[in-house]
Amino acid sequence: MSARCLFAAVSRPALAAMAVSAVTFPALAQSGAPPKTPVDPARLSAHDKVLASDAFEGRGPATPGEEKATGYIIAQFKKLGVPGGAKDGGYVQPVPLGRFEIVGEPETTVRAGDQTFTWTQGEDIAIRAAQLPVKQVEVKDAPIVFVGYGVTAPEVGWDDFKGQDVRGKMIVVLINDPDFEAKPGEAVFGRFGGKAMTYYGRWTYKYEEAARRGAAGVLIVHETAPASYGWATVKNSNTNTQFDVVRTDPAKVHTPVEAWIQRDAAAALFKAAGLDFDQLKAKARQPDFKPVTLPGASFSTRFRNDASQITSKNIVARIAGRTHPDETVIFTAHWDHLGVGLPDAKGDRIYNGAVDNADGIAALLELARLYAKGPKPQRSLVFLAVTAEEKGLLGSEYYAEHPIYDPAKTVADLNMDAFMLTGPAQDMTTSGSGKTDLEDLLKAELKAEGRSFTPDPLPEAGHFFRSDHFPMAKRGIPAISVGSGIDLYKGGREAGEAAERDYTANRYHQPSDEWTPQLDFSGEAVDVGTVYKLGLKLANSRIWPGWNPGTEFKAERDRTASERK
Ligand SMILES: [Zn+2]
Repeated sequence: MSARCLFAAVSRPALAAMAVSAVTFPALAQSGAPPKTPVDPARLSAHDKVLASDAFEGRGPATPGEEKATGYIIAQFKKLGVPGGAKDGGYVQPVPLGRFEIVGEPETTVRAGDQTFTWTQGEDIAIRAAQLPVKQVEVKDAPIVFVGYGVTAPEVGWDDFKGQDVRGKMIVVLINDPDFEAKPGEAVFGRFGGKAMTYYGRWTYKYEEAARRGAAGVLIVHETAPASYGWATVKNSNTNTQFDVVRTDPAKVHTPVEAWIQRDAAAALFKAAGLDFDQLKAKARQPDFKPVTLPGASFSTRFRNDASQITSKNIVARIAGRTHPDETVIFTAHWDHLGVGLPDAKGDRIYNGAVDNADGIAALLELARLYAKGPKPQRSLVFLAVTAEEKGLLGSEYYAEHPIYDPAKTVADLNMDAFMLTGPAQDMTTSGSGKTDLEDLLKAELKAEGRSFTPDPLPEAGHFFRSDHFPMAKRGIPAISVGSGIDLYKGGREAGEAAERDYTANRYHQPSDEWTPQLDFSGEAVDVGTVYKLGLKLANSRIWPGWNPGTEFKAERDRTASERK
């Protein structure tokens, strides 16, 4: 679930507060007119139109859409005269992936008290294909245990399981961190980074912790605010083909059943078991919370599972540096989207991904064009279009695990995912701010062009963990995902917020995220222009960005400090 729509769910007072907190510059700097940019919005639009066309079938990995998308990107690099950057000198880094699909519909029944519920796939529950080499998944009358936020965090003295044995049982888990809804004065308040979501809040962590404890499966309760997206997004991202990196022991990180359930379905189940969902949810915020087995309740499901292996592609191009070719600045963007999936209300099944992330690939191609046209940089520039981001950052995870360029001498990763196409903004942002001084370099570029920087307004959404810079960061590489701002030249924050809300509600991860002539690429052109300048600065200097003290990635970077002169 990629990183976009940073601003959508922000309330007006929060926006007002943000206006105050935004890093603005002397009034004379903000001229009211967007800065000039070498990036051509018409070229951005032309690339986007092709990549997001129905013919590219939503660019699903291991589909004809992959062939078309990667073929187009390689052809464009060749046209620009930018050579391949893969190990063999070509453009392709093969990415082996496990591919998983539910065959038919899961049959799911839940019993509690004297009631039996039949949960419909996509409506009450969204079970994703089991990421295990199994042909059939069957869970029969498994006990159900509510484990609160399902977090074990010894470093903050928190353990929701308290020794509860959940082997072979289904666990019901809340999304986000235990302090997400905490009020000042509550013991947990601020214990998990306050507003900013920690990795414990992510659905991936919930699944991984359940697998570590041998559970039969996980039912994450969906609520829009703590999840930061609606049920449509959960449904669309979990009921289609799933992928995973190839693992030696997948059962270590995956239980047979990984699913989300609607809040109302959870509440009805708890009620039938004689419990109150909201009461237990409040209890889950207390340090002395203990898991609750739902009396007399059981969960059963059965579905056929198609597991196979495929090879997808990361596309790599490179402009070799003149004086320091072994030092690399990486630009990333994912080329994949959701492919062909469940129909929307209009019966449209193609998830075109014009914003997410055809416009990021268009940006990558425009950057390559500009750098290829200019004088050769001192350091090397790598353009990396990764696969399977929508499947869990798999292409970037694979690159980070099998780097082509030495991570110790990788200067930075600048990731681009889903620029807003609603006109130029006076600001830019990043996903999950305040972790690396790479951001200060971005701020300096913005200052020079009379614009401002707005910190990620939705730290509780955990955007830092939701795009392709994250696997790079985990290896210590200074990495950010840059994003469009909210303070539009035309209409200010008001207009920007409305545009983001509209995108999140009506197009994010839906077939309606399509190219239209109404899309305005001039804002993206300004933002990519800023990235271009930042890239030039990094490529023609001896700057080595780093992680801020106290961040979880600094130690990994410092480990190779001696290799950077
Ligand atoms: Zn994306």
